[in-house]
Parts: sequence; structure tokens; C-alpha cells
Amino acid sequence: MNISIIGGGITGLTTALALHKLGIPSKVYEQAETLNEIGAGVWLQPNAVQILHWLGIKEEAINEGCMLNKMEITYPNLRPIKKIKKAVVEDKHGNQTIAIHRGKLQRILYDRCEQLNLVALGMPYLNQEVHEKKVQLHFDKKTIQTDVVLGADGINSRVRKAMGLPSEFRQSGQICCRGIANITLPNHLKCEGKEVWGDKRRFGFSQLSDNSVYFFTVLNKEICPQELSKTSLSALFKDFDPIIDKIIEASGDMHTTELIDLKRLDTWHDSHTCLLGDAAHATTPNMGQGACQGIEDAFYMSHCLNESNTPQDAFIKFETQRRKKVDYVVNNSWNFGRMVHHRAGQIFLRGIMKITPEKVMSKQMNSLYSVEGL
Ligand SMILES: Cc1cc2nc3c(=O)[nH]c(=O)nc-3n(C[C@H](O)[C@H](O)[C@H](O)COP(=O)(O)OP(=O)(O)OC[C@H]3O[C@@H](n4cnc5c(N)ncnc54)[C@H](O)[C@@H]3O)c2cc1C
Repeated sequence: MNISIIGGGITGLTTALALHKLGIPSKVYEQAETLNEIGAGVWLQPNAVQILHWLGIKEEAINEGCMLNKMEITYPNLRPIKKIKKAVVEDKHGNQTIAIHRGKLQRILYDRCEQLNLVALGMPYLNQEVHEKKVQLHFDKKTIQTDVVLGADGINSRVRKAMGLPSEFRQSGQICCRGIANITLPNHLKCEGKEVWGDKRRFGFSQLSDNSVYFFTVLNKEICPQELSKTSLSALFKDFDPIIDKIIEASGDMHTTELIDLKRLDTWHDSHTCLLGDAAHATTPNMGQGACQGIEDAFYMSHCLNESNTPQDAFIKFETQRRKKVDYVVNNSWNFGRMVHHRAGQIFLRGIMKITPEKVMSKQMNSLYSVEGL
């Protein structure tokens, strides 16, 4: 069976490595001519870290990033809204969140794929059609024939369009700005991920590696300045803990985008093709689970293809396994984002967090972090 993966982002590359681990050959086709280590950071939570461990790349990710032993939501002065024990933010194997530069993670995955001859760059996918039970995949300069297509080409997926599936997005009305600051956090903050809540604004940060801190800020559109600069950001966070101003001051390029997600698709597959990652279920990043869910897709899809007689059977099994969790993440992330950025909603959320027993929180996190078969 010939498997073609469209898109060499985190989901596509991880899928190729997962298939390879199970002895199934595949090829990733990525539109970019070269891999640039651009972008900001990403927090990989224990569900994703378990899968990186299974693939034998957890240690490399830790070496390139930073292991966080505390994840806290705080008031503007960095006082936690609720003190959370370490056990709540790690999985049953003791895996914790890894903060890593997105470009570095992609480089680790790409280098592995490249060594195994699993990836082709400079291959922009255009569309596809089925002809005599084979899929003709059209790229800008050539056409290839394949049995199975896995569309991992991101939120604006062309594969999704070629399948005739809708591409409707929900606009959150929140603007996110992310960047890297050349700074080292004080020792007591070095191994912690923080999300600091204010009125219609929040600021998250963690150390990524020596002298490099990942930060993001989310602002309601109505308070977002026309031009987001260091000066305008500093003004928005002037009443917060001074470390935030230091991070803004030390930041380099910033990437600004409105937070959106993909409206729920009724299905992710047809006879020969299945969508994965953001192409199937792009979520707002409020739970920090988008890439983690793409990595989970890679794990489950590789097993489904390994255990099924036909691609169609594998796709049905995959959707059955993945739907509930993915819907949970997308919807909770959406609702969470709306509430945090609404004055009364945030007060309500803070109240819920305070009264929720640690046992209940731990149970919720355990189910988010659990990966069947690991
Ligand atoms: C502000 C923000 C913060 C986030 N923070 C986190 C976080 O902390 N933790 C987390 O888990 N997730 C986070 N996410 C989500 C995460 O970034 C995405 O879910 C993840 O990158 C999706 O990976 P993907 O491989 O599915 O898609 P993409 O990263 O979009 O990759 C798609 C790939 O397909 C290629 N491609 C596209 N079109 C074509 C084509 N026609 N032909 C060939 N190739 C093509 C692209 O070049 C790209 O390489 C965040 C997202 C945002 C917006």
C-alpha cells in the first residue's frame, strides 16, 4: 500500500515517523523548498510527550527545549489562582510539558524523516482525483499515483477542499501576538509555564532554552492597538508583574494573528483520503493542545492503518477513536477562550477553578493526557 502524506508540519512528519515505526512506508510531500526555523514556541503536553518517547525523540526535544514542572494560571502579580500540585500536570508515566521552539521541533522531526528518505520538499499539492481505484495526486510540476492520501496540510487545507468538505472558520474576536525574547528568567520561574490573566488580556510565557523565552499575549480586539509594538504592548501590561515588561522589552520579531478555529466537519475521510491535525480539526490554542492532537492523530492513524485490511476500515476506526477527544478539546478551548476574555466569565472561571478539588482536576488532566496503547 502506497501512502502519501500532504504537508510536512508537526502532524505530517510525526505521522510518517509513526508509520515507519510500525514498518509501513510512506512519503511526506511538503510545499516549502526549505525548512525555516521561524515561528515562536509551543508547549507539548504529556499526551504528545508520550508519543515522542514512543518514537525515540523525547530526549532530543528536551535537550532542545525546556521541561516545565509547573503550569500555572495566575493573577497579574503572578500569584496563582489555584496552587496546583505537580502530579496534576504530569501523566501517569511522569511525563511533563516540554516547551520548545516550533522550528526546532519541526527540524528534529524533519531530520529523522530525511534520514529515512520519508520526505520530499518543494512539492506544492494542487488537487487529486480517483482513477481506477488509484488516486492521482497533482502537484504543481508533477502528478503521482498513490493508494492512500493523508491530508496534514494545515488549517487552510487544499486536500480538504479537494474532498469537497467545507472550510468555515469561527472568528474569536481575540488577537494573539507571539514571540521569542532573548532573556533568562529568574531561577524560580525557569521551569514553569505561566498564563497571567487580566481584564480582556492575558500573557503567557516560559523559558525555552538558555537566554530564550517564549511568550504570547491574547487581547480582545477592542483593546488591541492598531499597531502592536513593544511600546503598545508594554502599556497594556504596565500594571502586571515587572517580568512581563522585561520579556516584552527583550523580544525580537512578533507574529500577530486572530485566533480562529475550524467549524466541526461531519467527516474527516472518504474512500482513499483522510484528514489529520489542523486540516481536520484546527482549534484555538487556549488549551495548548492543537499540535498535541496532531501528534495523537499520527499515533492513532498509524495503528489504524497497521491493524485494518483496507484504508476505508482504518479511517472509520480512526474517526471512531478520535472524535470524542478532539471535539472535547476544540469546544472546551473555544469556550475557555471566550470566558477568560469576558469580565464576568473570568470571575466565574476563577471561582470554578478554586472550588474544583485537586482529585477532580487530576482526573480531567489524566483523561486529556491518556493515549490508548501507551
Ligand atoms: C497562537 C498559537 C499558539 C499555539 N500554541 C500551541 C501550543 O502551545 N501547543 C500545541 O499543542 N499547539 C499549539 N498551537 C496549535 C499548533 O500550532 C497547530 O495545531 C499545529 O501546528 C498544527 O500542525 P499541522 O502539522 O497539523 O499543521 P501546520 O502546522 O499548519 O502544517 C501544515 C504543513 O502543510 C504544508 N502545506 C500546506 N499546504 C500545502 C500544499 N498545498 N502542499 C504541500 N504542503 C502544504 C505547510 O507548508 C505546513 O508545513 C498553537 C496555535 C496558535 C495559532
